[in-house]
Amino acid sequence: MTPERETTEQTPAAPALLRLTLRAESDVFLVRQRGREVAAAVGLEHQDQVRLATALSEIGRYLVVTLPTPARAEVAFSAAVDSTPPTLVTEVSAVLPAGTSERTLAGALVVGRLVDTFSITPDGETTLIRMTRRIPSTANPLTPDRLAVIRDNLNASAASTPLEEMAEQNEQLLAALEETRAQRDELARLNDELAETNRGVLALYTQLSEELDETNRGVVALHAELEDRSVQLRAASEAKSRFLANVSHELRAPVTAVIGLTRLLLDPASDPLTAEQREQAELIRSSAADLLSLVNDLLDLGKAEAGAIEPNWSDVELRAVFGQLRGTVRAMATRPEVALVVVDPEPPALIRTDEVLLTQVLRNLLHNGLKFTEHGEVRMTAEVDGAEWTIRVRDTGIGIPAELQERVFEEFYQVPGRGSPSGARGTGLGLPYARRLSRLLGGDLRVTSEPGGGSVFTVHLPVSPAP
Ligand code: ADP
Repeated sequence: MTPERETTEQTPAAPALLRLTLRAESDVFLVRQRGREVAAAVGLEHQDQVRLATALSEIGRYLVVTLPTPARAEVAFSAAVDSTPPTLVTEVSAVLPAGTSERTLAGALVVGRLVDTFSITPDGETTLIRMTRRIPSTANPLTPDRLAVIRDNLNASAASTPLEEMAEQNEQLLAALEETRAQRDELARLNDELAETNRGVLALYTQLSEELDETNRGVVALHAELEDRSVQLRAASEAKSRFLANVSHELRAPVTAVIGLTRLLLDPASDPLTAEQREQAELIRSSAADLLSLVNDLLDLGKAEAGAIEPNWSDVELRAVFGQLRGTVRAMATRPEVALVVVDPEPPALIRTDEVLLTQVLRNLLHNGLKFTEHGEVRMTAEVDGAEWTIRVRDTGIGIPAELQERVFEEFYQVPGRGSPSGARGTGLGLPYARRLSRLLGGDLRVTSEPGGGSVFTVHLPVSPAP
């Protein structure tokens, strides 16, 4: 083949780095070995060198050994440095024996996978087999000077003998085998690892489901126990309410009798008492009065808890309730340092409720306000917002620490260590009762307070409770 033939339409080839002729079987070794040398010289990686050598070996063997009449072929290597990336171009130009077509060749040569591009095209008398392979960017740049040096070196160096090339080929084969074996071992190891992991996951899953089952059983048992407890609690609470109601009821008559008797004793119309006797009788009377108020409170609370209080619903004018409270409670506000302010709501201030119960609640709150305020004022206001009345009793008294604000609604609870400034004693039953009544009336009673800054007790009530 002539150099002009290399200027094919595919890549403008540079002058060949090396040319070889392929005639007999011994040439196949030569082409293989020198092909590898060219590949190494332009910077192809080891694997690619072997691939190109293998492809050349296959082509060569087919052309001069397999074909019934050996073909004649020229092999040329060149570097296409203008393309990106640069490639090593290998062209085999063969005169095929009669009866051998390009198609036969294409069917026989399965070397396409060893290189980047592979083509077989007729080229006048001859057939052109063309292969290219990318030169990695890591290789030294192929400047014209370097190409010239490579060309000179290749043409100067002699080829080794077929035997040497065979030994080299064997070595490469062994290396490839070794690599395959290593890959197979690695695959087996990965498979084992996967199986192991699967077993682990399965064990974990089983363990987790068992734990979940166990927990579920625990939760179910806990629910049953909670149910039992709440039944017991309800029973205990009902028993307590019954007890409160009965005992207070039983106590009321004798205590009232004691008060009556002491009053009789102290009556000026009765036999005169000595000063000391009078003092003692006075003590008995006031103690009995305290006891009666406690008994009455207990009785009220007991009734409320037992659900024995049935509200007597009617349309109530709030201003009337406020007016009445202003009158009755003022009598209690005897200290000039504390003002009682009852602000009438804007008319019409109608609410459907039980007037007596509501009055009880508010009176209780006003009493407390006066009891626990040293100076300043106790103010009651009411406002309506949509379907709800909000009645506030605000004082400037000693206040209640945040952590005790719910406890004051427990029966008998009194904030410890602080008597009321007015000196009045209480039972600790007022607020629990007031809250019960508020709820009975369809609303609620809440408190916000700041120690030293006063308290606000708020009664929320529906304008018209649901039937
Ligand atoms: P009592 O007033 O008979 O002690 P209550 O149930 O009405 O019982 O109140 C419980 C406790 O809540 C009171 O002892 C007091 O410590 C606290 N308390 C109630 N109202 C006020 C208030 N307006 N300011 C400060 N503390 C209050």
